[in-house]
Amino acid sequence: DPRPTTATTATTCGYCGVGCTLDVHVRDGEIAAITPARGAPVNRGHACIKGRFAHAFHRADDRLTTPLVRRDGHLVETTWDDAIATIADRLSSTRQQHGPDAIAVISSARATNEENYLAQKFVRTAIGTNNIDNCSRLCHAPSAAGLTASFGLAGGTNPLDDLDRTDCILLAGANPTEAHPVVGARIKQRVLSGARLVVVDPRRTELAALADVHLQASPGSNVAVFNGLAHLLIDEDLLDHDFLDQRTTGFAELAALVQDYPPDVAAEIAAVRAADLISAARLFGRAHHPVIVYGLGITEHAHGTDGVRTLANLAILRGAVGTPGCCGILPLRGQNNVQGASDMGALPDVLPGYQPVTDPAVRNRFAALWGRAVPERPGLRIPQMFDAAIAGEVRAIHVIGEDIVQSDPNATHVRAALRSCDLVVCHDVFPSRTAEHADVVLPAASFLEKDGTFVNFDRRFQRVRPAVAPPGSATSDFDILHRIANAMGIDLGCRTPSAALAECASLTPVFAGVSHQRLDAEGPLHWPCRAPDRPGEAVLHLDGFATPDGRAALAARPYLPPGEQPDGEFPHLLITGRRLVHYNTGSMTRRTPNTELLPAETLELHPADAAHLRVVDGANVTVTSRWGRATLTARLTRDVAPGQVFAAFHFPDAAINDLTSPHTDAATGCPEYKVTAVRISPG
Ligand code: SF4
Repeated sequence: DPRPTTATTATTCGYCGVGCTLDVHVRDGEIAAITPARGAPVNRGHACIKGRFAHAFHRADDRLTTPLVRRDGHLVETTWDDAIATIADRLSSTRQQHGPDAIAVISSARATNEENYLAQKFVRTAIGTNNIDNCSRLCHAPSAAGLTASFGLAGGTNPLDDLDRTDCILLAGANPTEAHPVVGARIKQRVLSGARLVVVDPRRTELAALADVHLQASPGSNVAVFNGLAHLLIDEDLLDHDFLDQRTTGFAELAALVQDYPPDVAAEIAAVRAADLISAARLFGRAHHPVIVYGLGITEHAHGTDGVRTLANLAILRGAVGTPGCCGILPLRGQNNVQGASDMGALPDVLPGYQPVTDPAVRNRFAALWGRAVPERPGLRIPQMFDAAIAGEVRAIHVIGEDIVQSDPNATHVRAALRSCDLVVCHDVFPSRTAEHADVVLPAASFLEKDGTFVNFDRRFQRVRPAVAPPGSATSDFDILHRIANAMGIDLGCRTPSAALAECASLTPVFAGVSHQRLDAEGPLHWPCRAPDRPGEAVLHLDGFATPDGRAALAARPYLPPGEQPDGEFPHLLITGRRLVHYNTGSMTRRTPNTELLPAETLELHPADAAHLRVVDGANVTVTSRWGRATLTARLTRDVAPGQVFAAFHFPDAAINDLTSPHTDAATGCPEYKVTAVRISPG
């Protein structure tokens, strides 16, 4: 269409955790094009194929445009008044009959910070429970736990821009070329400019092929690899002694533990070459400004928090965090706004800013402003919610913006949990697999249609602005939560997103200087931002770590095997992940031209395994685990190691999470998506 566009709105990409600033160009109320914003501090005029081209979903024919309620077993259209009254009545009666802890709410990164703030306020005041969690439980909960234990704060330590200064990148458990493309491109540019690159990944990704050392470690062996590297840093005295003496604890315990991980031992556990471990340790240990970048390949394990902590050990041993000129440790969040959903307290044990619900002084401060007591007992994590539903203890599950049947592991168990409930509510943009089990489905606005903020992976608050109106009567999660609370006789206050962030900032010292007005005037702000006249802190811990004793804590953690290992019945290991053109459950990107580039999922299979199984490229295979079964097309590639297979979870007809196991990280409940024992059969 050659006609000029009539309006351009600068907003933040709602897909991956990079959080690119995008200019949305609108003509006749429809999105005509999206371009990366020039001069934007995060993406510097770049964006990937998802942010630029995956927007047609917003006018897809099957967008939810009106509320649905289940009558006689079928979802039928209804009015907003009826839908809201149904939810309010049934939540109220559930609370009256079974108590507030019989209700659980799952929020998500699809919701803005303000929506997540309102969701946790709704749960804690209108319902009276701490049973709220968000999708970070499924991805970076081990980062929040591990980074808090090591450094005292649950965020990455440095800004993305510090990649430009590093001379050695340790990239672990991440494929940013596909999952965080703007970061992947920055890493590639830096390596082509001379920085050294060590990649720890069971697959040969594009960056692994470019690396000085690729440690193709077997799935679930991260802790052994990092303990082996720590052993070598200590053994070869590649340490920052002053930093260790003055600003850390736990060195003696770590040094004693990693004596058990000499290169040959660590290499055997991880199925890598000892010589490569030694090379990797020397590259990282001799660099002046090393940086660690990691992703879900570290966290989504039965020992994910141990993986984060043992990886953080390497930065601490080198004094590469909290020191002038350091480049730090950067967790690549899967979704923009998964950092913010947790920051806003949509978690069962903390209020906004990670302030513990178990601390009476914290509870009293929130209760004084909210006018209602804050429950003391921590609530249920997402996997515990499903177990409690099956046990009859949770009777209502309310899901905001997440398709839990497709995205959570062991989908059979999730479906059973939803069937056990008296009430299932979901807000979504499209009819989802979760909606198939819902009693009420509410049409939600997408990130292109709402007002608020997101926090990206390097702790930057950024504005989200509506570029177009939502279709039909769809509306924001913010509006929906207010309507439900009002129908229950509760006024949640903070009537606008701007007022909600202001209220959150007034209760949360690390966000005290953040406001919509300031973001509009100055652009993105890192947290901590402690006052309206102070800048955000792009680099953390320069003035001391936020741990109780002000020191970074080294962690002595032994390698423990993953929840599942190959055996005679299930001889292969399935790794799950993402593809470049699609995003998470694919509900948005599959409804755009991106799907022409990747219309279906495939199972990556090594040619040697394929020959053994008598499977040719393009043939159908059945993948069976202890937990379920899926059928995919085989794609033969040497990018996976023999004995391992890989698939993404973007397509409902390749239901990968029917296969994944219920094993979770003991510390956080994060599922072990990255290691499932499976059997491959032709046909
Ligand atoms: Fe940027 Fe990620 Fe959006 Fe791509 S998906 S445009 S890298 S925020």
